[in-house]
Amino acid sequence: KKVLIVGGVAGGASAAARLRRLDEKAQIILFERDDYISFANCGLPYYIGETIKEREKLLVQTPEAMKARFNIDVRINSEVIGIDTEKKLVTVRSKGQGIYEESYDDLVLSPGAKALRPNIPGIESAKIFTLRNIPDTDRIKAYVDHKGINSAIVIGGGFVGVEMAENLVERGLKVTLVEAAPHILAPFDSDMVVMAEKELVENGVGLILADGVKAFKEIGSQIEVTLSSTKMVSADLVILAIGVAPDTAFLKDSGLKLGPKGHIVVDERMQTNVKGVYAVGDAIEVVDFITGEKTAVPLAGPANKQGRIAADNIAGLNSIYKGTQGTSILKVFSLTAASTGANERTLQKANLPYRVVYVHPVAHASYYPAALQLTLKLIFNDQGQVLGAQGIGYDGVDKRIDVIAAVIRLKGTVDDLAELELAYAPPFSSAKDPVNMAGFAAQ
Ligand code: FAD
Repeated sequence: KKVLIVGGVAGGASAAARLRRLDEKAQIILFERDDYISFANCGLPYYIGETIKEREKLLVQTPEAMKARFNIDVRINSEVIGIDTEKKLVTVRSKGQGIYEESYDDLVLSPGAKALRPNIPGIESAKIFTLRNIPDTDRIKAYVDHKGINSAIVIGGGFVGVEMAENLVERGLKVTLVEAAPHILAPFDSDMVVMAEKELVENGVGLILADGVKAFKEIGSQIEVTLSSTKMVSADLVILAIGVAPDTAFLKDSGLKLGPKGHIVVDERMQTNVKGVYAVGDAIEVVDFITGEKTAVPLAGPANKQGRIAADNIAGLNSIYKGTQGTSILKVFSLTAASTGANERTLQKANLPYRVVYVHPVAHASYYPAALQLTLKLIFNDQGQVLGAQGIGYDGVDKRIDVIAAVIRLKGTVDDLAELELAYAPPFSSAKDPVNMAGFAAQ
């Protein structure tokens, strides 16, 4: 069996490794457009901020190691530019070998997403950066390392924008964060996110909310940004982090079904509308685990799981993807913000009734030193089924959201949260864990 994989990072590399474990004999060829496979996308902001000091640490796998360990034929600098699903062929444009075709029995697509760069005046300026991969990272870091770079404007208050704002502050830059929506971090409701906004401001980030970008203009060594409100801000560089779009233009004439925004449509086995062609990761449409509606969730955990499921199905196992609940977490200076499942906005849009409780327990026994408060918001329906949770605080937010994420995945209720027996000693929790407390408040 010959399997081709397009894209060599989160979803693609997972699919390749899993397939090799299930099938020792399959011929597996992995095409990657760039120089690097299997790099740590999620670590990139922290390398720019110099918390991660060594660049090599970002490179999780090399083509040589993939060959030696998994016998996978990795072809970097090789872009798949077209697919003929009838003849079962892909067309590859390789830096070394020009254009050639390769046949397949099964095909896995994991091309990911690209950073949005909308067509606004001045967008072509070399002082405007987006962050997606290692070359982007090298460019931003080289620029920030330059003498005389003192300030930055980050546009977009999503995960990447907030992480970049923090990491540029760590590098000593004066940072302004501009967000078009009324609050940053869309997975959270506005009542929860205010703490994260306050933390940014207290750490010196200038925060401009509910204001979009109208134009960019280079003025001397600086770049000036005009906002919709006509307010102007200027700095030495701009990081544009306003979201991503699926990188699927090469599939235009392939006969593969794409969603309204260009995401690849797949079934629960990650198979596209064409038999033997699978797709995973940021490039696909998924089902929202809570609302059942079609959505897209560009996160690393889902991409890795989907890659594994595609490989299972190619190898004849009957693995099913049950949807994405969007569990996510973020460091905002000394705060942690995490969420899972649906927020109020999503439920309102889907017309699903819900109830909400908040608890503000301490992260561990209050008599043990450094007990800090956290806030948990729990969202559930009339039957008590847990639909979502958001947490924000200094310590122990991650494990509480992860426990609730597990309960949501198992379709558990607020009674289950109340009943859970969780690990307790004073340095770690209380006899009634914050997750239990949220369950009690909801009962
Ligand atoms: P990618 O990992 O992007 O891989 C796609 C690869 O396909 C790319 O290398 C691309 O060059 C290649 N490719 C595209 N088209 C072709 C083609 N036609 N031919 C050949 N190769 C092609 N997620 C989290 O869950 N937590 C985090 O903390 C987090 N932090 C992030 C921080 C940053 C700065 C970024 C950019 C992303 C972050 N993410 C995070 C998101 C996460 O990285 C993605 O969800 C995940 O990498 C998606 O995997 P993928 O395989 O779909 O795409």
